[in-house]
Amino acid sequence: MLEDKDRIFTNIYGMHDRTLAGAKARGHWDGTAGILQKGRDWIIDQMKASGLRGRGGAGFPTGLKWSFMPKESDGRPSYLVVNADESEPGTCKDREIMRHDPHTLVEGCLIASFAMQAHACYIYIRGEYIREREALQAAIDEAYDAGLLGKNAAKSGWDFDLYLHHGAGAYICGEETALLESLEGKKGMPRMKPPFPAGSGLYGCPTTVNNVESIAVVPTILRRGPEWFSSFGRQNNAGTKLFAISGHVNNPCVVEEAMSIPFEELIEKHCGGIRGGWGNLKAVIPGGSSVPCVRGEKMKDAIMDFDYLRGELGSGLGTAAVIVMDQSTDIIKAIWRLSKFYKHESCGQCTPCREGTGWMMRVMERLVKGNADPEEIDMLWDVTKQVEGHTICALGDAAAWPIQGLIRNFRDEIEDRIKAQQTGRVSAVAAE
Ligand code: NAD
Ligand code: SF4
Repeated sequence: MLEDKDRIFTNIYGMHDRTLAGAKARGHWDGTAGILQKGRDWIIDQMKASGLRGRGGAGFPTGLKWSFMPKESDGRPSYLVVNADESEPGTCKDREIMRHDPHTLVEGCLIASFAMQAHACYIYIRGEYIREREALQAAIDEAYDAGLLGKNAAKSGWDFDLYLHHGAGAYICGEETALLESLEGKKGMPRMKPPFPAGSGLYGCPTTVNNVESIAVVPTILRRGPEWFSSFGRQNNAGTKLFAISGHVNNPCVVEEAMSIPFEELIEKHCGGIRGGWGNLKAVIPGGSSVPCVRGEKMKDAIMDFDYLRGELGSGLGTAAVIVMDQSTDIIKAIWRLSKFYKHESCGQCTPCREGTGWMMRVMERLVKGNADPEEIDMLWDVTKQVEGHTICALGDAAAWPIQGLIRNFRDEIEDRIKAQQTGRVSAVAAE
């Protein structure tokens, strides 16, 4: 359980002043130049020691990612790009940071860029986040006016510019290489990896792409020390974490908690429990729409971290967007809706994804109505396996996994629906 004194995001509910003066009063921008003076290697070593894993969904170790950037320049500039294109259904944690605590991110951009020898950083924010970009731009402007950005940023001797770039509402632009294409003014289509961005990223230069939350926690980790951060959560799952809890809980919210918090504690403490009580819990998607759903009874004792959710439940922490569904949910229809989303957002560049997402959506559409043969469940499973791991970017996997989760956990419900259709008993909800 996280105590108030250990929270990094002290203003996620907007109760306090989000301006520079307010941020400073809460301890941000304190001794920033001193942190930079300790040097790049020190910063990267501290980040490695903290155990921070990327908060955008994949959980790649942040310090390790930074260490891939070249130590010596070969003439090309280095860049930091912050991925603020938060679009994963259910996910709205970075929104709260940018809206209410923007200086945590701005200061993090300076420190992280310095550590990777980047004199410029771009924050790519999703087009729909209008209030958030206004708040963030205001914080950037304030920081420039106060000498915290620009020439000799924060009196550190490091020249640093920070730019805010607006996306135009395409989910795929949150994929890091599609984001880079978009930033370069091209159509947002993912690139093959490798090369990873550290070798060839923005304009073909060494680039690190990090999520908003990953960068916003950096200043506090460096001030309080990596041991403090890694004291939360289980081994390999360190730190505090923003959870965005939506759906059939009594009080949906975004909350900062210790990693590895039990699911039951998270829901009871912050959300006032499940709507209608724990017996009414049907399913949970624990990490944003890209990870498989889990049956409610299996979630009751779950631990909310990368390794437990993946290793024990075959799901994932993803973006820590916890979507709770009670017994009133038509789970087949809910997953069909996600299939429709992924089909719509596929960039169409590779065949398994372009064709597979449409195919999966159409079969899911028939399963919602029960208008299928029982063998088609296995055929659909096989198709998800043909898509998974055979595409340029993770969108193909993201389209396949929710369906796999549905078949693994709710096969009985799909079969019952088909039987009901065959005997003319399909429910009005399913058939509509
Ligand atoms: P990934 O595992 O391919 O990569 C994660 C990060 O690690 C990337 O920055 C990548 O460049 C780096 N990396 C991985 N292997 C590397 C290597 N060998 N050398 C150097 N760098 C390496 O995952 P991804 O495709 O970037 O992200 C997928 C995740 O994104 C999904 O799990 C999903 O949860 C999440 N997601 C988040 C949102 C959102 O709104 N936040 C939206 C869609 C998806
Ligand atoms: Fe585009 Fe889908 Fe291929 Fe990704 S997997 S590159 S979204 S077609």
